[in-house]
Amino acid sequence: MRLRVQVVIEADDDDDDHRSPVVHQVTQIDRDALSVDTLGLQLAEAKQLLQKVQAVLINEQVRTSLVQQVACPSCGRPRAHKDAHPIVVRTLFGTLHLRSPRWHQCPCQPQTTRTFSPLAAALPERTTPELLYLESKFAGLVSYGLSARLLTETLPIGRPLYASAVRLHAQATGERLESELGPEQSMFADGCQLDWDELPRPDLPLTVGLDGGYVHSSQQRSRRDGWFEVIAGKSMPTDGPAKCFGYVQTLDTKPKRRLFEVLKSQGMAMNQQVTFLTDGGEDVRDIPLYLNPQAEHLIDWFHITMRLTVMSQMTKGLRSRDNPELAAEVAAEVAEELERLKWLLWHGNVFRALQTVDDLQIDLDNTEHPSREQQKLLKMVTEFGGYIRANGAWIPNYGERYRSGEAISSAFVESTVNQVVSKRMVKKQQMRWAPKSAHLLLQVRAKVLNDELAPAFQRWYPAFVTPSESADTDGVAA
Ligand SMILES: [Zn+2]
Repeated sequence: MRLRVQVVIEADDDDDDHRSPVVHQVTQIDRDALSVDTLGLQLAEAKQLLQKVQAVLINEQVRTSLVQQVACPSCGRPRAHKDAHPIVVRTLFGTLHLRSPRWHQCPCQPQTTRTFSPLAAALPERTTPELLYLESKFAGLVSYGLSARLLTETLPIGRPLYASAVRLHAQATGERLESELGPEQSMFADGCQLDWDELPRPDLPLTVGLDGGYVHSSQQRSRRDGWFEVIAGKSMPTDGPAKCFGYVQTLDTKPKRRLFEVLKSQGMAMNQQVTFLTDGGEDVRDIPLYLNPQAEHLIDWFHITMRLTVMSQMTKGLRSRDNPELAAEVAAEVAEELERLKWLLWHGNVFRALQTVDDLQIDLDNTEHPSREQQKLLKMVTEFGGYIRANGAWIPNYGERYRSGEAISSAFVESTVNQVVSKRMVKKQQMRWAPKSAHLLLQVRAKVLNDELAPAFQRWYPAFVTPSESADTDGVAA
């Protein structure tokens, strides 16, 4: 069998010249015996079909637009053609080289320019929003290179799509998202206690996890600046989906505004309880200040228990060739003390926890020739003591909070940093980032993870339809 696909352009009903329909031959599909691999369209055919149909459509759109504009709006005389330049338009279904005419302005009115290019003026952006959207969306999830390959393989892009092009477009999307963020303020809690008392009963508490991670820098000049810090956050309402955000600490001038917008989008009220859970670093601890009058800051139990788990693992490695019995004795003692330490911290008993840290230090320091493992563990215990001492004010009675259903951790499934930053930016050690491009990609990634990228494109381009929502599933079923 042979199937011919044609595109028929029908004349508009109100078309003055009453043209007869124009028929374009698009493609021809030949099939022999029916089998699973001859059934339906092949991807190559589908790509060609889309590309050709769209080329006809675009040519017709351009033709109509120019016909409609050629007459001078004042006197009705057609403008004189001067010359034409090609413009390149990139779409999901092909790269088109369009002929953009330049016309002389009509002399009937005074004009500021002598010529103008109507097509170039109608298309100031030369990449369609859908292509930008898919490039940005995939780049938010996987590497630039993989995004480029994925799009090239499934769509008739019509030219080689390079990782660098995807990167440029994703970064531009990031810039555009950034430009929408309002100004920074030191204080976002507006109103006063009297106003807050008047507010209706708020929703259940919001829990916000804030954490820092490190990304390999491409601008390494010395050993020390091989990495830079990225802050990741996740805001979780009691009901409803979580939202995440991220930024490069040294670059971002609006971290409070960024966080505030996320909370606002989740309907945060000024009399609503917001619990911030961090690992205690000053850089993240200051962000929540003055965001909400009901905000409280606590150390995320996840960070305490992680450190304790690492120390427990190290205890199992305490061994000595010279004196195996003593080493075993020390290991048993240390394991028991670590268990006690965990129990004390779980109940928010910082004072006794610090005493236990002292005991641990004594036990680990008592041998003449401590093994390397023992020295390492002693160093870690000492650092942990410093960590608990510095953050004592924000260590609550986790056990009590847990029993009354209050938040103690933001990392139930996985750490926020891993989810927002590491999965995309740290997985491969050789991936190196400039702080600026990491920051912009994080803006795109957060929007993708929050399902907010398509709404942003709808804001920017009123005719943009979210591709995944536009599929006419009813029609297919029928
Ligand atoms: Zn005129």
